[in-house]
Amino acid sequence: MTERTDVAVVGGGIVGLASARALLRARPGLHVVVLERGNAIAHGQTGHNSGVIHSGAYYRPGSAKARLCVDGRRRLLDYLSTKGLEHRIPGKLIIATRPDQLARLRTIGERAAANGVEGVRWRSAEEIRALEPRACGLAALEVPGTGIVDYAAVARSYARDIEDLGGTVRTRSELLRASVTSDGVEIEHRGGILEARMLVGCAGIEADRLARCCGADPTVQIVPFRGEYYSLRDPDRWGLNHLLYPVPDPALPFLGVHVTLTLHRGIEAGPNAVLALGRQAYRRHEFSVRDLATLALHPGSWALARRWARTGLYEELRSLSRSIYARDLRAMVPSITDEDLRPGGAGIRAQAVDRAGRLVDDFVLIDGPRSLHVVNAPSPAATSALALGDVIRDRLLHHRDGAL
Ligand SMILES: Cc1cc2nc3c(=O)[nH]c(=O)nc-3n(C[C@H](O)[C@H](O)[C@H](O)COP(=O)(O)OP(=O)(O)OC[C@H]3O[C@@H](n4cnc5c(N)ncnc54)[C@H](O)[C@@H]3O)c2cc1C
Repeated sequence: MTERTDVAVVGGGIVGLASARALLRARPGLHVVVLERGNAIAHGQTGHNSGVIHSGAYYRPGSAKARLCVDGRRRLLDYLSTKGLEHRIPGKLIIATRPDQLARLRTIGERAAANGVEGVRWRSAEEIRALEPRACGLAALEVPGTGIVDYAAVARSYARDIEDLGGTVRTRSELLRASVTSDGVEIEHRGGILEARMLVGCAGIEADRLARCCGADPTVQIVPFRGEYYSLRDPDRWGLNHLLYPVPDPALPFLGVHVTLTLHRGIEAGPNAVLALGRQAYRRHEFSVRDLATLALHPGSWALARRWARTGLYEELRSLSRSIYARDLRAMVPSITDEDLRPGGAGIRAQAVDRAGRLVDDFVLIDGPRSLHVVNAPSPAATSALALGDVIRDRLLHHRDGAL
């Protein structure tokens, strides 16, 4: 059966849903269909992340991440309050545990100020102890605006908004093929054929393949990095008030293994960042021959491997050894032992890598014929989704193929 729509959004993660919602709010009467391959929405990164509402402190001033995180966070908090969705704002401490991290911590403080992040304060070693008796460090930045939420619940709420606005969200509807025609894109998906005047690609881990399948050149390759979590036994015993983060390596787009509070009084440690051997390899032993072949054929993968061989090896080792994981956490929380860590879940980051093997830091959108593709939307895209959705909407409405 062939169905027609104005816009097909491929991917029912938080970015696709926020984009569809933004389109419908701006253009009532537009026909928008979201296609999600999973049995439920938030099947990818959105349903497997840390649930942190980032404040925008880390990101390079002027970058899309910096602007959209600060704006997206403010709008997300308004949205959560309006809808009565559960969330908390415990704040976080970014803790320097070695003298060589102090300069980087200062840089994060400067970036936070430049990005307009409010209330950020430098804390001494004594102040860290006073704020968090279980933690220690040489100095910290306190970021009071960092919060926690369940992003899958937020995504479900965006999906309800879409349906209230007259749009459609279809699960079990994986896009299998797409071909550009004279007046749009013909999409073959698991539920049938959909002819759309325009397509928006928000397929996360499959973003590069989707772009190519629609005749666009993503230039980057998506590399899957698994983030594995532990949960802390007896969470009440720790009496933690804040999220605790190390000072990240500025050369990497990952924030380092941190300690996060969950909405239901749990405590998680993680995620690490291990090269996954498949785009759905949520467990260590899983792999995909097709995904490994794709990796091997991209020149960026080899450059990436050369550049980050040591770091990658260490991540593998830490993934295999709970003792190393616990030892790294002890730099911030000295009383954590191996026995305190219970294996938790995992998420897979869709990280774009360019042909030179660089990990692409910022959000990236590219145009294709009759389509627009989000080819890099790593953290903090969940926090930023309402703002990023507006950017996607505006770019689609002013697309060179101007069909809407
Ligand atoms: C371990 C981890 C921790 C993170 N922590 C945070 C955090 O604390 N705060 C934060 O702001 N961000 C965090 N992030 C990042 C955040 O989760 C992502 O940036 C965000 O979820 C991206 O949303 P998305 O919609 O682009 O992608 P996704 O959520 O991955 O959605 C893409 C969707 O497309 C679907 N899809 C793929 N191919 C097809 C196809 N062919 N047809 C139909 N559907 C398809 C997938 O099933 C998926 O549901 C984290 C990410 C990870 C992995």
